[in-house]
Amino acid sequence: MIKDNKWVFTFDELDQAEQHIGSDWEKIRGLLGGKGANLFEMTRIEIPVPPGFTITTEACNLYLQAGGEFPENMWEQTLTALQDVEDKTGKKFGDPENPLLVSCRSGAKFSMPGMMDTVLNIGLNDEVASGLAELTEDSRFVHDSYRRLVQMFGAVVLGVPDEPFEEVLTRYRAERGVATEAELTVEDFKAIVREFKAIIKRMARRDFPTDPHEQLKLAVEAVFLSWNGKRARDYRNAAHIPHDLGTGVNIQTMVFGNMGADSATGVAMSRNATTGENNIEGDYLINAQGEDVVAGIRATIPIEKLEEDMPEMYHQFAKIAKRLEHHYREMQDMEFTIECGKLWLLQTRNAKRTAQAAVRIAVEMAEGGLITQEEALMRIEAPQIDAFLHPQFSTDSRKHAVESGALIASGLNVSPGAAIGIIAFDADLAEQLAKEQGKQVIMVRPETKPDDVHGMLAAEGILTSRGGRTSHAALVARQFGKPAVVGVAELDIDMVDRKMSVGNRQIHEGDWISIDGTAGEVFVGKLEKKIPDIEDPWLTKLLNWADERRQLEVWANADYPEDADRGRRYGAQGIGLCRTEHMFFQQDRLPFVQQMIIAKSTARQQEALDILMPFQRDDFAGLFRVMDGLPVIIRLIDPPLHEFLTSYEELTSELADLKIRLTGASNLEAMDEILQKIQQDQTLLERVEALREANPMLGLRGVRLGIMRPALTKMQVRAIFSAACEVTREGVEVHPEIMIPLVSHINELKRQREVLEAEAQAVMAEYDVEVNYKFGTMIEVPRAALTADRIADYAEFFSFGTNDLTQATYCISRDDAESGFLIDYLEQGILAENPFASLDEDGVGKLMDMAVKLGKATRSDLEIGICGEHGGDSKSIDLCHRLGLKYVSCSPFRVPIARLAAAQGAIRDKSHQ
Ligand code: PEP
Ligand code: MG
Repeated sequence: MIKDNKWVFTFDELDQAEQHIGSDWEKIRGLLGGKGANLFEMTRIEIPVPPGFTITTEACNLYLQAGGEFPENMWEQTLTALQDVEDKTGKKFGDPENPLLVSCRSGAKFSMPGMMDTVLNIGLNDEVASGLAELTEDSRFVHDSYRRLVQMFGAVVLGVPDEPFEEVLTRYRAERGVATEAELTVEDFKAIVREFKAIIKRMARRDFPTDPHEQLKLAVEAVFLSWNGKRARDYRNAAHIPHDLGTGVNIQTMVFGNMGADSATGVAMSRNATTGENNIEGDYLINAQGEDVVAGIRATIPIEKLEEDMPEMYHQFAKIAKRLEHHYREMQDMEFTIECGKLWLLQTRNAKRTAQAAVRIAVEMAEGGLITQEEALMRIEAPQIDAFLHPQFSTDSRKHAVESGALIASGLNVSPGAAIGIIAFDADLAEQLAKEQGKQVIMVRPETKPDDVHGMLAAEGILTSRGGRTSHAALVARQFGKPAVVGVAELDIDMVDRKMSVGNRQIHEGDWISIDGTAGEVFVGKLEKKIPDIEDPWLTKLLNWADERRQLEVWANADYPEDADRGRRYGAQGIGLCRTEHMFFQQDRLPFVQQMIIAKSTARQQEALDILMPFQRDDFAGLFRVMDGLPVIIRLIDPPLHEFLTSYEELTSELADLKIRLTGASNLEAMDEILQKIQQDQTLLERVEALREANPMLGLRGVRLGIMRPALTKMQVRAIFSAACEVTREGVEVHPEIMIPLVSHINELKRQREVLEAEAQAVMAEYDVEVNYKFGTMIEVPRAALTADRIADYAEFFSFGTNDLTQATYCISRDDAESGFLIDYLEQGILAENPFASLDEDGVGKLMDMAVKLGKATRSDLEIGICGEHGGDSKSIDLCHRLGLKYVSCSPFRVPIARLAAAQGAIRDKSHQ
């Protein structure tokens, strides 16, 4: 509610604005706009700001609501404020003897760069221009300013398109044989003004207003109206900025950087925005107006050079930059103008910066005492830490690639990092090119399957045209830290002609491509990579501060010793999930896994299991050694068995091919060979058919598989305990935790525990070694969460498998959803966020909360964590902190992010108490 009908505040009236709306800075910004609020603040602390005033956002909103009527008294207040500016400057608006010129700029609460309007040099007309030319003895500057006003006014206020104005300028440049307007003469500018006015008359059907007050009034209206322009509305929709905030209008004395060699204009930041170094960074131009610096027409000069050109100005500016940084306790991005040897600040705001710079600046500001360590921690968005862990394409290289049309497609950014390589369309070729010829390869497939893993490992990166965030390609890529982009639907892969196309562009096997798994982008050709640095000293410090504050432990999901080692180096305090089935996919084991599955007799099945056991034992021993002293949660086999076999479709088509080849076989020997293969495939097909399920993800998997195939899970337990006993003998401290997946009923867990503990006891007795272990379960089925009190009777720990728990709670198959309707759901706002990326607090979160409470009521020392992918997402980590979990477990590459996010959760929580 508007209290006192005050619509206009001069820059030195911050106290009054505070009386009007309260001193809360957010409210002040809401009333005066971000840019306006900073101008008031700078005026209050006596930074040289050209005098001016702001018309409030409240006035804008009322003007728009009233269909284009200024609120009562607003214009009178504007004229009074203008009078005040005249008094302060000793100049008079519209007086040719000593004219005041003003700028009129929009300024909303949130910055909306380039979205709204600005008019400069308001107050000029023919008489004022001649008077000012006499006064300044610089006719050229005055008429240059005048033509800028007429052009801007025509375009912004009267809606004349830019082109006719630009045509005139281009013609004059060509006639004079010069490259820029700066080289035109006074007479040229005078003639240009006349032509511009004629354009306005012709296109806007009215004269350019010569009355300065009318100019100002129309400019204010134009700024008000620009709040509802299409550009501005679209921007606000995209940036989630409400439409009812309105814009302020800042009217300010013009100062001129184009008044000769002792004038200049520039933009600068108080620190280096790329590296974070504590040096002023920026550009300026001597004898130029503000827009010349950003327009890129003249080559700008680095700010350090100002120290030589105008030492006094440079030192003043450097002092002000520091002062503003101290005042706002944040790195500043400033606009300045030097008019005839006097420095003015036109704007200041918090500066944008790279992730590396953000970390360094936050740490150095905390060390310098400007902010607290907690503020430093809160200033970094946890996902920014990713920039320290994965190679990226350099900004210049990406920009150049985009401009030259090399960005050909985008898909899901499932595994971060940048990779460059030649295309290989199959795993064998990828491996051969990489291993035998030392080439960098990107493996490109419609989708990947377990047989492709060797190629994926040899490749620099992976690109698929199908699949979602949990597709095989995505999981394996994340597992091994290989950059990957999947589900690139525009990509048409032709495996026969060994080429892929996007639209009518064709790319062949052996051609270079570059993929960015952080952004999900695909480029043709080679981009330049930048190597990251996890050892960055500022990041190390920041993460140490995070560790001192967080209550959540951070563990890693890792299947292999290399991953575990990376996790530990990045700060993991345990392994929260080892997916044992991943080890089965390796080439040296897969045949025995398949034999175990298709075996008709128990003896044949046991034979295969006996071969697999030592492999698994050695895998686990490797993990235990790396994690010496820390807990390692090993999950028993989870996926349905058919995933390890050739698919039904592939087998039937292979059989059809074989039968055709049989009829064409030229001799008995060949026939015999084909017949044997047919027989093998037929046996396999029978097994595949027997295992086939309508909904495999809801079928025989997880604990159900363990119950139906006890020999398999017993083998896994034997492998875990043999490894544990062996490394214990080596002097390694082991803490294995055996985890059962997909439990929904207590009896499942009870049955498994009996079988498995008996096996564990037997192995320990054989080795005569006592291993301290835990037995627990995943909570990834809603029924398990609902009956967690019962489940806790048999589980010493819970680990939330929120990938499955989210799927089951929503009854959504993630793979189908993410490449299909989920995109529409998000676009239409049916879901605000992808629940597979960030935990759904209201639904899945409620189940988790219930499970924590029920579980702890039965067993107060129940260890509870999360190992679904949400364990690496900062928003979900905040929820895990509030739920009181012991740890979050995520991919090794996300461990540093999780350390920071966990600290942020704790700090937020503390500030709410
Ligand atoms: C889960 O469901 O969250 C989980 C970790 O298991 P997986 O992703 O292997 O199904
Ligand atoms: Mg699961």
